[in-house]
Amino acid sequence: MSDVPNVTDTETRRERSEGPPALEFRNIVHAYGTMVAVKDLSLAVAPSETVCLLGPSGCGKTTALRVAAGLESPASGEVWMAGRQLNGGGRAVPPEHRHIGLVFQDYALFPHMNVLENVTFGLERMAERDRRARAMDSLALVGMADYAENYPHTLSGGQQQRVALARALAPKPAVVLLDEPFSGLDARLRDSVRDKTFHALRQSGAAALMVTHDAEEAMYMADRIAVMKDGRLVQDGAPRELYQQPRNPFVAAFFGEVNRISGIVQGGSVETAVGVLPAPGMANGAPVDVLVRPEALRLSPATVNSIGPGFAKVLSARLLGRTSLVHLCTCKTTGEELHLHARVPGSYLPVEETIQAIELDQSQAFVFPGGAAK
Ligand code: ATP
Repeated sequence: MSDVPNVTDTETRRERSEGPPALEFRNIVHAYGTMVAVKDLSLAVAPSETVCLLGPSGCGKTTALRVAAGLESPASGEVWMAGRQLNGGGRAVPPEHRHIGLVFQDYALFPHMNVLENVTFGLERMAERDRRARAMDSLALVGMADYAENYPHTLSGGQQQRVALARALAPKPAVVLLDEPFSGLDARLRDSVRDKTFHALRQSGAAALMVTHDAEEAMYMADRIAVMKDGRLVQDGAPRELYQQPRNPFVAAFFGEVNRISGIVQGGSVETAVGVLPAPGMANGAPVDVLVRPEALRLSPATVNSIGPGFAKVLSARLLGRTSLVHLCTCKTTGEELHLHARVPGSYLPVEETIQAIELDQSQAFVFPGGAAK
């Protein structure tokens, strides 16, 4: 496997990469009959970078991946890999000539071949002796070298998926495409296979484009996340950027539960039942949607007996492990009741019906024009 660049930060990883992107979509449009699945998608993956395509079911993620793989020819637009044009301008390079690795949800191992034979399968151009060494290197990378002689049916789902990854990485592709690679695994296995995959991709030095509908999984795996909705790219950036500076309510809500509060801008800010938030550049009197993450609401026992702005009554509190979920009843500035969720450290379980003071962490609350795309 190629040397690992000593890069720890997303921006650094991208900035350090020289030359053209490992993979680039330029204005890709793809339709199935009249159904336009991908609309004007432009996105680049730098060498050794992992990018996750994230979005709800049917938003076009898999179609984009299949276009990159050469399994679908786009209606228009271009696909480039490392400066080589694969689609557009009359070109349609077939999958086997793209030098990519593919990992699917269903592992797709050959049942009649053992693990080693499965991994050497794509190395037919190498000398027999080198093939075995390369395949064993790749299996070691995913922690499966001890299973070389096993047949797929004797392996767990997680082990099979690691072999599928080893097979994809063995030819040292410049780009690996992964389509929901962990979704067939139960939660416990998923965590460990995800971790193995993360480190194997890092060590391999391959660029990766991975499809997922799970925001936490995308944040775990990706240097950069591209959020799609209805065939379009809505926002792309480092996980931190998308979480802390979502462009619209759809992106904000995709990264976890949000409390939704409506308000009116007054003098460049909006007053809500949980605190005042800046609304720069928004006109006086403009209606806004305020999205507040449950972890933005910090609670402490109040010394007052009635609910007013900045205070709320506890409806119930449940320990969920590392955190507790506190259901709160507050009042809008208009006086209307509001049901909110607060996520607090697990040890804090306020008694029902007590009043709590709320401190709002403004970095986890977002103000959008009223009626903006949900
Ligand atoms: P999921 O997470 O459910 O796999 P996705 O975001 O990957 O969804 P795609 O599989 O790319 O979405 O599908 C995008 C749209 O294109 C969907 O409306 C889907 O029904 C449609 N579609 C996908 N494949 C085909 C096909 N072979 N023929 C017709 N329509 C298709």
